[in-house]
Amino acid sequence: MLIYKVTEEQLRKAAEGVCVIEAERMGVTNRATGFRVKCLPLKPADDPHFFQRRNRTGDRWVHALCWHGFEAFFKALFDINPEAKAITMMATYDGRDGFLENYPKTADFELGSRMFPCPAADACLCER
Ligand SMILES: [Zn+2]
Repeated sequence: MLIYKVTEEQLRKAAEGVCVIEAERMGVTNRATGFRVKCLPLKPADDPHFFQRRNRTGDRWVHALCWHGFEAFFKALFDINPEAKAITMMATYDGRDGFLENYPKTADFELGSRMFPCPAADACLCER
């Protein structure tokens, strides 16, 4: 995903305790500073599947952050910087208000198929 109007330090702080991030600074285009960001599961020893996503049939783990992990990351990021802007595969969040309005709608984003439907928020074993 792409995240604009943030510093790398803000991204790292938002990810603390939630996920591991890979942030690559993008060329400065149209005045905005942006990063291409990947969020990956933390895999702490006491919960190696913390915020980790399952595949659409639910029979194996995927090395990707689950919907709840992204929610926790974005909540932290928009607390730190309410003006941030994120463009993801599912939606665009323009500032904290945009996030609060649009993130809940992504819970039903279909990751599966007609045979194996799997809403984004169900592709994990979170009880959070
Ligand atoms: Zn989850």
